[in-house]
Amino acid sequence: MNSSPISKINLDGRTFFVKRDDLIDPYLAGNKYRKLYTLLQTPKDKFNKIISYGGTQSNAMLAISAMCKDKGWEFVYYTKPISKIQKELEYGNYYHSKKLGMNHIEIDNELYRNFIASLRINLNEKVFLIDQGGAVKSAKDGVKVLADEIREANLRTRTIATPSGTGTTALYLAFALPEYKVYTTPAIGDIEYLKEQMSALHKIPNNLVILEPCKKYHFAKPYPEFLDIYEKLLKTGIEFDLLYACGMWKCLLEQTNEEILYVHSGGVSGNESMLKRYSQKGMRT
Ligand SMILES: *Cc1c(COP(=O)(O)O)cnc(C)c1O
Repeated sequence: MNSSPISKINLDGRTFFVKRDDLIDPYLAGNKYRKLYTLLQTPKDKFNKIISYGGTQSNAMLAISAMCKDKGWEFVYYTKPISKIQKELEYGNYYHSKKLGMNHIEIDNELYRNFIASLRINLNEKVFLIDQGGAVKSAKDGVKVLADEIREANLRTRTIATPSGTGTTALYLAFALPEYKVYTTPAIGDIEYLKEQMSALHKIPNNLVILEPCKKYHFAKPYPEFLDIYEKLLKTGIEFDLLYACGMWKCLLEQTNEEILYVHSGGVSGNESMLKRYSQKGMRT
């Protein structure tokens, strides 16, 4: 694949650059493409089945579904039980993943934890397990490709920003680009939790700066201030996701002042269902 393009936008009187990983593919885009990079390079006959687990709004779930369809691999995805209403929705990541052939299996709440732990024990060489959020060890190699593209673009800015879920992307990006400063912020849990997740992968490098959100946000809940930022960003001509990007942009606008390259991590496919929730809550007209 060619290097993803870089756009220049103006926001609140500041210039930002945006690394357009959202444009890589409608389903397999953003940092999920980078994290699955090594698997995507793997010959089809190496595996016949991919197993993963997590939430049914997950961008990783959709990206894995698209990959498996392309490779002809069976994709089994385990979640806690979900409502009949959600199963019948004809939009959102779950709907699209099912259309791409995902085999969804619900596990009772009480059994879930142990069941997920047992997945690891029952693998064979044709079955590959991807942990929640697309967390694979080889993510490091895919993020390295992203880092090389950023370095080759040779922008004058030496500051990068990208939001964190598991922190895999931000961590490996900082690791691969020691001459840059990398900002991130937790979209899931708090800074302590994020640091714990990151430390499990690698020692946190000094050039990674974790910004503290100005208040506690719950993941995937609608907040009017996120919608404001989403709409303001939309006016620049680029759509960003509502779950991760808006919190990151809020921190950048409030806590930084330098010129920044924002790495667009995709996830726009989840906006349709999220925007409907904003409407249902009366936050959007
Ligand atoms: C998955 C995802 C993230 C979080 O990435 P991590 O590597 O888990 O930190 C951020 N933004 C978007 C849009 C995502 O889909």
